[in-house]
Amino acid sequence: MEQVNSHKKLDYLIIGQGLVGTWLSYYALKAGKTCMVVNDSHTAAASQVASGVINPVTGRRIVQTWMIDTFLPFALNAYSDLGTQLNASIVSEAPVVLIHPSLQMQESFEYRYEHDNVYLQKNNATDFEAFMHTPFGTGQINQTIWIDLNLMMREWRQQLIKDHQFIDAKFDITDLQITNEGISWKGIQAKRIVFSDGIGSMENPFFKMLPFAPNKGEALIVEIKDLPNEAIYKHNLTIVPWKDQLFWVGSNYEWEYTDAAPSSTFRTKMEDALTQLLKIPFTVVDHIAGIRPANQERRPFVGLHPVYPAMGICNGMGTKGCSLAPYFAHQFIEHCENGTPIHAEASLDRFEEILKKTSGTI
Ligand SMILES: Cc1cc2nc3c(=O)[nH]c(=O)nc-3n(C[C@H](O)[C@H](O)[C@H](O)COP(=O)(O)OP(=O)(O)OC[C@H]3O[C@@H](n4cnc5c(N)ncnc54)[C@H](O)[C@@H]3O)c2cc1C
Repeated sequence: MEQVNSHKKLDYLIIGQGLVGTWLSYYALKAGKTCMVVNDSHTAAASQVASGVINPVTGRRIVQTWMIDTFLPFALNAYSDLGTQLNASIVSEAPVVLIHPSLQMQESFEYRYEHDNVYLQKNNATDFEAFMHTPFGTGQINQTIWIDLNLMMREWRQQLIKDHQFIDAKFDITDLQITNEGISWKGIQAKRIVFSDGIGSMENPFFKMLPFAPNKGEALIVEIKDLPNEAIYKHNLTIVPWKDQLFWVGSNYEWEYTDAAPSSTFRTKMEDALTQLLKIPFTVVDHIAGIRPANQERRPFVGLHPVYPAMGICNGMGTKGCSLAPYFAHQFIEHCENGTPIHAEASLDRFEEILKKTSGTI
């Protein structure tokens, strides 16, 4: 375990370094605060298997996602700034090429193109016919962002390690003490502890009563040598540039699952779908799976515990961690440092009663 100066009191002890823990530590340090990030490299992270896409529209009706006009510019700035700090190319703008899977989806695109259209553009199906079947035509979504999450989290971790701000260990809540001045964990004193441990928070006696609804998702990593990698392709499946001629292909949304492992059912389904869509050869090189820290309300859990304000949580990002994590990590730190409010739909205030009544003790 990394040696820590146990006499110095930290501002933040951050549990978990997925997307959310990365952004919490980034904004804490940016605000001139001190922090230590504890992450267990043997515990799975949704962020490690995510495709890293921020798509401003969603669903069969191709409608704009929640608050995307706010989140998209914020995220683009945030990832660009972090990339500059890390001297790493982590963010690119890549259009989504829609390969309409049915007449209904083609009509849905045409309708949205004519009504309340911000992000849609028409394109030529002939541009894609060399490598894909396009019987129902194509369309395009602009201003989509792709983030190289693995590069970002790896480089940020290296920076934290270099600055003695990272511990690779499994956090166990029974080692935590809440003191009058904050918290104490294995000799480390901090004013606050923040849980950004994804589905780990579902076991936390102080936060497990939040309405988490974890959701399993899988992806194949596929080599498609002749597919241009400047765009994301969306059909019944999504194909996202991953690295060189490797593509991320997914996903599914399983609310009921027996384990977190990759399943043969998913692999067969994706291979069949790829065979039907592509005119060019492909080779599956990997199969990954993760659990999204989703919730019943589809809104994050952000704020301080109503009874123990030394404890906070920034979690519940569900399927949209890439756009939500920078924005709400920033709000969380601003709230702690300057008392600025957290967006009402994401604030922990909405669970005040249940957290007061049912919170455990250590
Ligand atoms: C297949 C798939 C595809 C996805 N694609 C996208 C996408 O394209 N765009 C998008 O916006 N979102 C996507 N998501 C959702 C996104 O991955 C999540 O919203 C986001 O990663 C959640 O980040 P997090 O930091 O809250 O949790 P996590 O990424 O799960 O991070 C939690 C961290 O805490 C650590 N940890 C847990 N318990 C402990 C402990 N006891 N001690 C120490 N450390 C601990 C874990 O090791 C991990 O590093 C996808 C998810 C999946 C599964």
